[in-house]
Amino acid sequence: MSNVFCQCDKCERDILVGETMVSLTMAKDKIIDESCIQPVFVNTVGMWCQACASHVVDKQVKLHKTMFD
Ligand SMILES: [Zn+2]
Repeated sequence: MSNVFCQCDKCERDILVGETMVSLTMAKDKIIDESCIQPVFVNTVGMWCQACASHVVDKQVKLHKTMFD
């Protein structure tokens, strides 16, 4: 018996407790000093199962490479 934690954004399959999920988040942090930041706000942009994550991450890396080329 496994509990559903969330759904994958790509294949829409249930991601269960005990599995590994990959998420992309946008965080807003307050900079306290050079070595310390304080989280103010975290927004989850996407969540994927491990099988889909490799494709998604691949796409993101290619996208960023294109941006910086
Ligand atoms: Zn998936």
